[in-house]
Amino acid sequence: MALINCKECGKQISDQASSCPHCGAPVAGNPPAPSATVAPLAAESVRKTSTYKYILYGTLVLLVAISCMGGGKTSNTPREFNATQAIFLCEHAIKQVSRDPEKAEVPMVSNVGSGDEYVFVWGPQTKLTRLRNGLGLEVGVPAVCKVSHAQKKMTSLSVDGKTIF
Ligand SMILES: [Zn+2]
Repeated sequence: MALINCKECGKQISDQASSCPHCGAPVAGNPPAPSATVAPLAAESVRKTSTYKYILYGTLVLLVAISCMGGGKTSNTPREFNATQAIFLCEHAIKQVSRDPEKAEVPMVSNVGSGDEYVFVWGPQTKLTRLRNGLGLEVGVPAVCKVSHAQKKMTSLSVDGKTIF
């Protein structure tokens, strides 16, 4: 560190100083102190601006997501309730009759109903419906399941000759 003379007041000052401690004149070659204080302020304001941008962006994304979900609901409503969805309802219900729903096998069968009603029939002779009975044996049992197309739900179910509902 060397001593130099201030250009303004002529007093000796450090060449490392950014300004003269006597008169306050800036020292050539050293970046003025203000940049050190202004820069963080600028950075702070940039941070604030970007924070506001993120909040604004986040709000927009949220609004878009909400409107998409709303739109999704309206576009889902008119979707066709088909035989696959109908048999899925039956399959799930029949499995619940089994002692071991996880292992129950309810194979796909064709819809034999017509009009508003889907009708699915499983027969024991083909072992299509395999449920566990009270003895824990895997057996084939008949099942008949009816699903209303308009109501999109089961209207009747019988398994092994018993009416479930
Ligand atoms: Zn000076």
